[in-house]
Amino acid sequence: MLRLDCPVCGLRDHDEFTYLEDGSITYPKLTNENQDDWFDAVYLRENPRGRHVEKWHHTFGCRTVLLVERDTLTHVIGKIKPAHPKIAAALKQPATAKKRS
Ligand SMILES: [Zn+2]
Repeated sequence: MLRLDCPVCGLRDHDEFTYLEDGSITYPKLTNENQDDWFDAVYLRENPRGRHVEKWHHTFGCRTVLLVERDTLTHVIGKIKPAHPKIAAALKQPATAKKRS
């Protein structure tokens, strides 16, 4: 069974999570009027063999969007971190530093 180690909740079964998309996609800026760039970002997807990064949502847990390294051939899970950099940074801080005054 595929299990994901959520940085907030700990090790959980994959059915608590929802696959979102390829985690390596970068969308053009909203000011970019080039239709080809938007078409590529929205519709074109790679189908990689081996390790790559995916976005998963912990739907039935903390609801954090995660970047998950997964091998598409072996399903071995690698590094997992929150997709949002501020959440990732907050989880790295000691517990006393997380408190707001
Ligand atoms: Zn979680």
